[in-house]
Amino acid sequence: MTGQPLIDPFGRHITYLRVSVTDRCDFRCIYCMAETMTFLPRQDLLTLEEIDRLASAFVAKGVRKLRLTGGEPLVRRNIMWLVERLSRHLGGGLGELTLTTNGSQLALYAEALAACGVARINVSLDTLDASKFRVITRGGDLAQVLRGIEAASRAGLKIKINTVALRGVNEDEIEDLIRWAHGSGFDLTLIETMPMGEIGADRTEQYLPLSLVRAQLGQHFTLDEVAYNSGGPARYVTVRETGGRLGFITPMTHNFCESCNRVRVTCTGTLYMCLGQEDAADLRSPLRASHDDALLHAAIAAAIARKPKGHDFVIDRGERPSVGRPMSMTGG
Ligand code: SAM
Ligand code: SF4
Repeated sequence: MTGQPLIDPFGRHITYLRVSVTDRCDFRCIYCMAETMTFLPRQDLLTLEEIDRLASAFVAKGVRKLRLTGGEPLVRRNIMWLVERLSRHLGGGLGELTLTTNGSQLALYAEALAACGVARINVSLDTLDASKFRVITRGGDLAQVLRGIEAASRAGLKIKINTVALRGVNEDEIEDLIRWAHGSGFDLTLIETMPMGEIGADRTEQYLPLSLVRAQLGQHFTLDEVAYNSGGPARYVTVRETGGRLGFITPMTHNFCESCNRVRVTCTGTLYMCLGQEDAADLRSPLRASHDDALLHAAIAAAIARKPKGHDFVIDRGERPSVGRPMSMTGG
């Protein structure tokens, strides 16, 4: 490790970096972005070489887990070059290299990802109904995603399905999704919608508290609390009837900040110290100012010293989003 480890003012060790490699996406999920989303001009993006340097600086400062996300990480051109480059840290300082994907390109990349040492991936999937899928993603092809998931499974990748619980959209399907995921050997995590970015709709219409979902699931399943902790915000149970693991990410009904070990960098090199706050640090300038990483290391340390205690998410009818940027900027 180079220099001091990253410890924030509340004594939390920062060991997890999420890197949004692009803000672009081939889907336009209704809770994530507006239909008319405009993307950044390509010249504003860090190059893949710059992303490698930036992420490697974090690894040098004690980051043990890297997650590539987006937008859709697998639509960034030459993405496998970056995955391969970053994989050189595995077995060194880095314990895990992973990604979160919508699965649309997985059939193309699953084997290459596994060959680079990626062992686990998260795939987002909110429904198993093809027409509902087309509506939620505004045009996505469910069959293509399911083919991607199969390819990933065949390549030996461990898969976790992430499902955003949406009132009146997939709330009647959650039990089926759990049975399908667990029957296929995948963990599944349910996520509450978070008030991020303008989506061209009122979020109170979509918001479904997971406390409610959990109570409903309790009528059909026996949910056993487990001590398992992925180091993240999810709380886990095992479902006795399926034998599978089910996670709940409840930023709105349960504050998960006290054990936060992560920060997020966007594809323009902006570092967000908290998903639910606006404060950010520009890392692109120190990155481009010199080939030596000293300035970059100093900027990272200064930013971590400002990491806030927690988020201020609120969902109220007619309210503007708590955080103006969309989830696709930091990748969740
Ligand atoms: N495109 C990839 C995908 O969908 O997996 C990676 C980026 S996406 C922004 C990461 C995760 O954030 C997905 O699981 C998505 O469902 C979730 N997400 C997006 N907007 C959200 C919101 N407003 N509230 C909660 N989760 C959200
Ligand atoms: Fe794209 Fe992922 Fe956002 Fe859906 S959730 S629009 S797949 S970035």
